[in-house]
Amino acid sequence: MIIILFGPPGAGKGTQAQRIEKAHGLVQLSTGDMLRAAVAAKTHYGQKAQEKMQAGQLVSDDIVIGIIADRIKEDDCKNGFILDGFPRNVAQAKALDVMLEEEGVKLDAVVQMEVNDEALVDRISGRYTCANCNEGYHDTNLKPKVDGVCDVCGSTEFKRRADDNAETVAKRLDEYYAQTAPVLPYYAEKGILQQVDGMAAIDDVTAQINAVLTA
Ligand code: AMP
Repeated sequence: MIIILFGPPGAGKGTQAQRIEKAHGLVQLSTGDMLRAAVAAKTHYGQKAQEKMQAGQLVSDDIVIGIIADRIKEDDCKNGFILDGFPRNVAQAKALDVMLEEEGVKLDAVVQMEVNDEALVDRISGRYTCANCNEGYHDTNLKPKVDGVCDVCGSTEFKRRADDNAETVAKRLDEYYAQTAPVLPYYAEKGILQQVDGMAAIDDVTAQINAVLTA
C-alpha cells in the first residue's frame, strides 16, 4: 500500500505516519526528516537545503524529487510506504506519478488531514521530540507520563526543530496555501483523495485513517 498523508505543517502527519507505520507494516518517508538529517550531516544537499528550511520556504524540487526517487527503490519500501511532506507542489506530484509508474506500483490513497489554522500555530510552537527515538510530545497537549522522560525509550534528551517558531511557521503556512494546497484538486480528479478530521483527538484521527486504509 502506498499512501500520502497530506496537510499543513502541524496537522499531525508525522504523528499519524508513525502510528500507521507500526500498524500496517509500511515505511514512513518524511522528506522533512530526510532533509534535516542531510543538514545535520552537512551533505551537499543538506547545505543547499538549510537556508530555505530556516526561512520556511520549500527546498528545490530537484533535491526532494531526487531524494524520494532513490529512497523508494530501497528494499524496505517493497511492502509499501507513507509519504509525509511529499509532494508539496504539483510538479512534485507529477514527478511522483512518473516514479511510481517506473516502479510498477500505484498510489492507493491521499489522506487529507483537515485542521484550523489557529490550532496549527499552537501545535507547532509547543511540539518537541525525543532526541533518541523521535517520539513526539507537546508542552501542553501531549506531555510524557513522567516529566522529562520519554515514554517509549526512557531517554531524558529532547529536541525542538529550528523552524518551529512563530515567524517561520507563518511563512510555512503561506507556502502551504500557495504551493501545496493546489495539489489537492490534482488528486481529487484521480478519485483517490479522502478527508479526515485532523482536529479530533490523536486516537480518533488514527481510527479515521485506518478506516480509510481498510475500506
Ligand atoms: P516538514 O518536516 O515536512 O515540516 O518540512 C520541513 C521543511 O523541509 C519545509 O519547511 C521545507 O523547507 C522542507 N521540505 C520538506 N519536504 C519538502 C518538499 N516535499 N518540498 C520542498 N521542501 C520540503
